Amino acid sequence: MLPKKISVKDKNYLFVLWEDDSETSIKLSDLRRECPCAICNSEKSERGNKYIPLYTLDQLTIVKISKVGKYALGIEWMDGHNTGIYEFGYLRSISDKGK
Ligand SMILES: [Zn+2]
Repeated sequence: MLPKKISVKDKNYLFVLWEDDSETSIKLSDLRRECPCAICNSEKSERGNKYIPLYTLDQLTIVKISKVGKYALGIEWMDGHNTGIYEFGYLRSISDKGK
C-alpha cells in the first residue's frame, strides 16, 4: 500500500491518505518515539520499556519528508535527526486509523 498524500496537521499529527483512500494519522511524539533507526533502537533498549521520553519542540518538528525508494519515508526533524526510515507498512502499523 502506497501513500497518496502525506501532510503534517496542526503541527501535531502526520496525516496519510493511502491509495485505497483510507486515512491514518499519528501524533508526532508517537512517530518520533517509534523511530526505527539504529540510534533510537539502541537508546530504547538501554533505557528499557518503562522509560517515557520527554521531547523538545525541535525534536517534534518535521522539517523534511522524503520518499526513500518506493517503500519508505525518510523524516528529518528540526533537531537534525534524520536517520529514521519508516517503511509504509510500519508507518501504517503504528498509526491510528484515521477519523
Ligand atoms: Zn531515530
